[in-house]
Amino acid sequence: MNIHEYQAKELFEKFGVPTPKGDVANTAEEARKIAESFDSNLYAVKSQVHAGGRGKGTFKNGYQGGVQIVKTAAEVEEAAKNMIGEVLVTHQTGEEGKLVSKVMVADAVEIEKEYYLSILMDREHSCPVIVASTEGGMNIEDVAEETPELIHKEVIHPLAGLQAYEVRKLCKKLGLSGGTAKAFAKTLKSLMKLFIECDCDMVEINPLVTTPDGEVMALDAKFSFDDNALYRHPEIQALHDPSEEDPREVEAAKYDLNYIGLDGNIACLVNGAGLAMSTMDIIKHSGGEPANFLDVGGGATQEQVANAFKIICSDPNVKGILVNIFGGIMDCDVIAKGIVAASKEVNLEVPLVVRLEGNNVAAGKETLANSDVDLIAADDLADAAKKAVAAIS
Ligand code: ADP
Ligand code: MG
Repeated sequence: MNIHEYQAKELFEKFGVPTPKGDVANTAEEARKIAESFDSNLYAVKSQVHAGGRGKGTFKNGYQGGVQIVKTAAEVEEAAKNMIGEVLVTHQTGEEGKLVSKVMVADAVEIEKEYYLSILMDREHSCPVIVASTEGGMNIEDVAEETPELIHKEVIHPLAGLQAYEVRKLCKKLGLSGGTAKAFAKTLKSLMKLFIECDCDMVEINPLVTTPDGEVMALDAKFSFDDNALYRHPEIQALHDPSEEDPREVEAAKYDLNYIGLDGNIACLVNGAGLAMSTMDIIKHSGGEPANFLDVGGGATQEQVANAFKIICSDPNVKGILVNIFGGIMDCDVIAKGIVAASKEVNLEVPLVVRLEGNNVAAGKETLANSDVDLIAADDLADAAKKAVAAIS
């Protein structure tokens, strides 16, 4: 799960990571009032969407820049007016962009230098890894590509935690000394504590800046939390913004379905994650593109199957459906009944290929045969994939 920058700012404050003054606004007028509430000669007005690259983004209304630095409260209002209710396109949003419904108004601090700092759970090392660079700012992807030697990494032992020598090593690599190094060390320790205590997958600050008076401040924040640990953090769960997510996934989550939306046009409904992965593989192998990953699980109910079927049928990108069930724990007839129930509510307009095998398969096939669901029966997985691809070509 990801959160917005203004929500991340609250977590930073709680754990002692310094950030500029600021607050979130839902309207341009609120934005002006926030600016008026603290006196500054420069304000940053920042679109709140779950995507990076806002600074260099462009709104569909032609307005340039999802982050604006302006001088007066009136200009804050003007910038907010251009952002709220508009769609921002950045290199991370895809062409469709993201609707901005909130902006953050922050004190624009004087920047001496921009750094990059992140902590992420690294699967290769099975440890948290700190990534830092002197080349912070808006082009970190290019830095990683062109000058990877400027990106420094420190693998942190999960039990021993962040050690003083590791902090000193990073300070040296970043060329920090004196008061700035001390401020950086304090910030990094706070960030590490936050990362561990909140069960984060990733915390990224780009830029982390130094100011002319030796302060260190986080001017941006991207967070990603481990979904499997969210149950331990109801206060973080409460920050969830469903409008930022694929609506198909939001719907699937309501019914406890393991669904991930993809870009292809052959939807699949499968029981078991491994079988779902191989179904996607074989669709690709047969020349098609899967529209989703969907594992209804071993113990799915008829209602869950029906809801899963409705979700894939309501996806306008879907041109064909492949149901691939190998009934081990799963009863094939439960799947068949779910499909029949759902097809009464949705208008099935695309070809449906069904492969059923295993537990109670005869009853499942009979349920389908006795219904008026129009389907193409398949014998095995390869046959099913071939038939699904052929049906949409
Ligand atoms: P994104 O990474 O999505 O483009 P950022 O929050 O990093 O958005 O903002 C883009 C740039 O705007 C930053 O690299 C920084 O130079 C500037 N900026 C952002 N917030 C502030 C602020 N509070 N004060 C001064 N400059 C800021
Ligand atoms: Mg940034």
